[in-house]
Amino acid sequence: MIILSFILAIIIIFLAILLVRAAMFKPHKELKPSGGRIELDNDRIVDDMVQMIRCKTVSYNDESLIDKTEFKKFQDLLPQLYPRVHEKCRREFAGVNGMLYHWKGKSADEPVVLMAHYDVVPVEESQWEKPAFEGIVEDGMIWGRGTLDTKGTFCGIMEAAEKLIADGFVPEHDVYFAFSGQEEINGPSCPAIVDLFEERGIRPALVVDEGGAVVENVFPGVTRECALIGIAEKGLTNIEFKAKSGGGTCLHAPGAYYCG
Ligand SMILES: [Zn+2]
Repeated sequence: MIILSFILAIIIIFLAILLVRAAMFKPHKELKPSGGRIELDNDRIVDDMVQMIRCKTVSYNDESLIDKTEFKKFQDLLPQLYPRVHEKCRREFAGVNGMLYHWKGKSADEPVVLMAHYDVVPVEESQWEKPAFEGIVEDGMIWGRGTLDTKGTFCGIMEAAEKLIADGFVPEHDVYFAFSGQEEINGPSCPAIVDLFEERGIRPALVVDEGGAVVENVFPGVTRECALIGIAEKGLTNIEFKAKSGGGTCLHAPGAYYCG
């Protein structure tokens, strides 16, 4: 009885703490965008993206199928497309084909890591309405493998950095761009970048990677658009089931016939 009351008391205290903290929570004031127009060279950005799509950086679990020259082509393309980024930031290679850029800010503390991967999954051409690696631009759309997953993100990061560097912008904190070319096959490139951070004692304050979408009307009680903030890396588990049975038992029922 005493133990039960004790457990009950703990639960009540726990719930009370939850409720008090929830009631006391005040969200930060929302930052409003400046409203200023940002001038961008849209045609050039689209062309950069098209050039990225044209590199057939396809990952396969069977290493013999991977065309390494296409990955090299992609890596060599970057300094041509983003000369200012390559002048200002240090690029180093990690793992098999990972790339880490370091853009120095005013402070090395609390750096930000922006991530993307430039490998893509294989294509079954017959399932595609347009060729997957030509980067066809039609009716305001770019067609190509990896546009969403995640050469689009890659291109966005690089275009933003190139523009900001041209404008003379210096970030408050260091910014790292971490790009893997083995994301689709869980290769060692991304872990190699993490090892570099650990060796150098760098603890990022914020990591932005590919994830879910900004959605509306998905979470009950939330009426405006929202997105999930990941607080941990997702993992994976493979479970192998084996079922053993004597076999041979058949069940007959009207309209059904099962054999086990
Ligand atoms: Zn992806």
